[in-house]
Amino acid sequence: MRYVLQLVRSTEKSCFFEDHKSCISKDVALSIAAIKGMNDILPGEVETWQFLEQVAREVFTTYGFSEIRTPVPEKTELFCRSIGETTDIVEKEMYTFNDKSDNSLTLRPEGTAPVMRSFIQNRLHNLDPVSKLYYLGPMFRYERPQKGRYRQFHQLGAEVIGVEDARIDAQVLAMLHQYFTRIGIESVALQVNSLGCPDCRPAYRLQLIDFLETRLDQLCSECQRRYRTNPLRVLDCKIATCQAATTAAPAMIDHLCCACDEHFAQVQTYLKAVDIPFAVNARMVRGLDYYVRTTFELVTDQLGSQNAVAAGGRYDGLIESLGGPALPGIGFAIGLERLVLMKGEEKIQPAVPQLFIAALGEEAASRAFVLMSRLQAHGIRAEMDYQGKSLKAQMRRANKLNAEFTLILGEEEITSGQAQLKNMCDSTQKTVALDSLQQVLQEKLSGSMGSA
Ligand code: ATP
Ligand code: MG
Repeated sequence: MRYVLQLVRSTEKSCFFEDHKSCISKDVALSIAAIKGMNDILPGEVETWQFLEQVAREVFTTYGFSEIRTPVPEKTELFCRSIGETTDIVEKEMYTFNDKSDNSLTLRPEGTAPVMRSFIQNRLHNLDPVSKLYYLGPMFRYERPQKGRYRQFHQLGAEVIGVEDARIDAQVLAMLHQYFTRIGIESVALQVNSLGCPDCRPAYRLQLIDFLETRLDQLCSECQRRYRTNPLRVLDCKIATCQAATTAAPAMIDHLCCACDEHFAQVQTYLKAVDIPFAVNARMVRGLDYYVRTTFELVTDQLGSQNAVAAGGRYDGLIESLGGPALPGIGFAIGLERLVLMKGEEKIQPAVPQLFIAALGEEAASRAFVLMSRLQAHGIRAEMDYQGKSLKAQMRRANKLNAEFTLILGEEEITSGQAQLKNMCDSTQKTVALDSLQQVLQEKLSGSMGSA
């Protein structure tokens, strides 16, 4: 649902954006809508988000991860140096601007580089030789908006810094698997690959360029442009002719050095040991330069070409290249919008009022207000009418809000100190003393008394 706001400024005098007076001329009507590819998350949808976030916090905490929050903008250089100058993100997708001091800033397009920047800056390695961090928040990429692809989107990511052992690769993937099980999305497949390391990848890269040179005429213009600067990305091109032209391309996993080969074999052994289903996809590459060795994606066939719901891998040289200690790292990011799409119709119901107090007359409304406020302070979701509506209209609203109980408060009830508490589900009623309303409701809501 989209709302268009009409803001009408009739005279310059009435302008309240003092700093921006020059932007608002006399007698203009502005149509203000959200920026293309950036969406509101409205009540009714936000409950699914809250569920996905809450389960993440539970699962990630179980695996020993702590949350880290970093600023949305960072210095542009951070992303150029970590993600890579020739990647799609840095070449085309970044929201980069100069601030008023002429510093080039970029709205983070991903979470790993900022987390590494913070890790180095705050010397987190001095606190613990192994850091397990997770983050959750908006990312920004200037892409063509479509289903599952937006310009502001949200990632839930996790990083482990300080462990080279393949068991941590398996742990991270086990946590990812556990998360998807807990949120009830089973229709995803884990694909793993190894991208080698600075010892074995350069030779493979040259071999791949040689291969691509023999098929240049069959590649799309974008792949023709980038096959020398970023040959691995050609293997990831979504265009069918490029995919067909590269079916016989050499694979990195056939050219790994001994150490990478051994590491990848161990990752697979450990995954099998903890029953995490996976498939090796030798064509999988990642769109960011910092990945080495283990890389992975969780893919679905439910979202068209936006088929990756989560992706990640090792980035063993990244921290050092950013000026930090030589520590290995591994992590992943989950695209939350894609999870929300996959949850689809399975909407999580918003919380409904537990009690609606319908008041008749001014005095009753005042009493209802105090009663409602006390109940809310004790954790009971209470609601009332603020507009002096008729009893019928108030009951209609209670029904619309799906209130679990209603209480009608009139002169008689105030005098006697008793009122009828109605269970809206089975229409049964019970007389309750207003003084003990909180206790009665708490008992009923905890299910101890069943029906009224
Ligand atoms: P894709 O191949 O779909 O462009 P990517 O390789 O660019 O994905 P990553 O940088 O690995 O994606 O980000 C991790 C996850 O974040 C993706 O698997 C996806 O779920 C999500 N994601 C990435 N870009 C977007 C976007 N523009 N809109 C919504 N989700 C996104
Ligand atoms: Mg992308």
